[in-house]
Amino acid sequence: MSKPQPIAAANWKCNGTQESLTQLVEVFNGHKIDHDVQCVVAPTFVHIPLVQAKLRNPKFVVSAENAIAKSGAFTGEVSMPILKDLKINWVILGHSERRTYYGETNEIVAQKTLDAYKQGFYVIACIGETLQQREAGQTAKVVLTQTQAILKLLPKEAWSKIVLAYEPVWAIGTGKVATPEQAQEVHAILRKYLKEKLGDEIASKLRILYGGSVTGQNAATLYKKPDINGFLVGGASLKPEFLQIIDATK
Ligand code: PEP
Repeated sequence: MSKPQPIAAANWKCNGTQESLTQLVEVFNGHKIDHDVQCVVAPTFVHIPLVQAKLRNPKFVVSAENAIAKSGAFTGEVSMPILKDLKINWVILGHSERRTYYGETNEIVAQKTLDAYKQGFYVIACIGETLQQREAGQTAKVVLTQTQAILKLLPKEAWSKIVLAYEPVWAIGTGKVATPEQAQEVHAILRKYLKEKLGDEIASKLRILYGGSVTGQNAATLYKKPDINGFLVGGASLKPEFLQIIDATK
């Protein structure tokens, strides 16, 4: 079966200055992308208007890196309605840094995914095991439990707007990329499970991204694997190298 439209997503995390990001966006603008790919760039909240104003490459959309469901008395947060008002339609949820440093549990991530779906967002929902969990042979159990929490809350029709990002925690920002075989193995487990729960049609259209030390060098080999539908990229997305990663999804 042919692959669904790939996604190359840049997670800039808490990085950048107005000058450095303007320069990078200009590099993205100047790159001709001649295949069908959805490129996504997620800056900090405060940089969103700058990136929206500068980004002209039609293959790109701007995403948030996180959001809470409602506006109100939540000092220091940014809500989905505020993002919608800024014309943001994509959000990354459940990144391992949010799970590790900000206490986001599987249930919180699932609830936020449902809230985002209800408010019209495309969601890149992140899952992945720690090194300790992998070494204990728990990888499949961990990623399926994370996915199941989302599955439990979401109506079936929501899945056309959900993207799963498998990001082994031990590979994020470490330079230790999963081998194509390791990544494919987990992606295939996820797709099989979702096929059982949601049916063939939805599961085969679902984009499952790999994330964790993806570079311009390793992206093409990873993308050759049948169940890898693109990438969620941290470090390399802050460099012109991100364009090589986009091109690797051809
Ligand atoms: C990420 O933060 O989502 C990520 C995958 O980071 P890196 O590409 O730097 O490993």
